[in-house]
Amino acid sequence: AVSGRAKLIEAHREAAAFYRRALLSKPGWPVEYLRARRLDHVLAWNSSWPVGYAPDAWSGLIDHLRRKGFDDKVMLDAGLAKVTHNGYVIDQFKDRLMFVAHDRAADGVGFVGRGRGQLVRYLNTPTTPIYEKSKTLVGLGEQRKLLTRGGIPVLVEGPTDALAVDRISRLTRCGWAGIAVAGTRLSVEQSNLLKHNATSDIVIVATDGDAAGRSAAIRWLGPLSATFREVLCAELPAGHDPSSLFASEYGADRLSRALSFARPLVDVAIDTELSRWSRVLDHISGRVSALRAVLPLVTKMPKDRVAAEVIRLSRLLQLDEQTVSRE
Ligand code: ATP
Ligand code: MN
Ligand code: MN
Ligand code: MN
Repeated sequence: AVSGRAKLIEAHREAAAFYRRALLSKPGWPVEYLRARRLDHVLAWNSSWPVGYAPDAWSGLIDHLRRKGFDDKVMLDAGLAKVTHNGYVIDQFKDRLMFVAHDRAADGVGFVGRGRGQLVRYLNTPTTPIYEKSKTLVGLGEQRKLLTRGGIPVLVEGPTDALAVDRISRLTRCGWAGIAVAGTRLSVEQSNLLKHNATSDIVIVATDGDAAGRSAAIRWLGPLSATFREVLCAELPAGHDPSSLFASEYGADRLSRALSFARPLVDVAIDTELSRWSRVLDHISGRVSALRAVLPLVTKMPKDRVAAEVIRLSRLLQLDEQTVSRE
């Protein structure tokens, strides 16, 4: 039989504590990586983000868990260990900076591991009885307190982006709660479990300022607007993600500005669509076609915002308001 949920979660808790001690007890590349990103506040012993390090060893964690009385079966079921082709049980994660992924109940059920090199930068826990990537978020456990007090969730791609948002939130006391999806895909379940743990009905999306990040933000509109009343988008300078922006010169200012100036994601989506029509906008027929292309997005807006959007679109497209409303 598969090990019970409680046992698997217990193994995860013990693993996180082990990884945490490994990070704090040894200077090395993970510490340098955090320093270079100005995220070394997580090295404080009482940091609310228990970031850790999986040692560069074949059986660091499993030796520890065995000493603590866990069966190999539990470690394997939890995805914390794996079997080699010649039958050895070894650690799943080796020489990686470790971030915890939380489920709906804000229990730590998996890990996102950042490797040292560029070759296999990221490794997630494989699917287990308690972990499915699309049903977890990184940072949920750490941010739950802030979220239940009205903190505004800021949804980002990577764990270090969530940490950068957390840092800026503390500096500015803006109550932004950085949460990472660990990738560019956001599922309906992830959107729901975020809302389940938050009292805010506003969410801010802050994906990377590259093509992948921008199109991800627009794809996130669906799941998020089904769950939150208002979905805002922080547009980052080209080539930056929240973490790299924060680490840049005047980064604290630049990141907090980007978040403060977040505007409705649907407007960003509309502007992105309109920019595809830029070559035909000289002509009224082209402008009407562009308008028609964005109408599906307008109909998805909250009803009380449609009037303002009609005015915005009529100005942008130089069409009179009656034409826009009629369409
Ligand atoms: P870093 O700044 O440490 O290089 P990042 O978070 O900026 O990392 P991105 O390339 O922007 O990395 O990707 C965003 C997120 O997507 C990552 O944090 C990671 O969770 C996930 N991801 C990216 N590439 C992979 C991959 N090959 N396998 C699994 N997850 C990945
Ligand atoms: Mn990216
Ligand atoms: Mn990135
Ligand atoms: Mn990054």
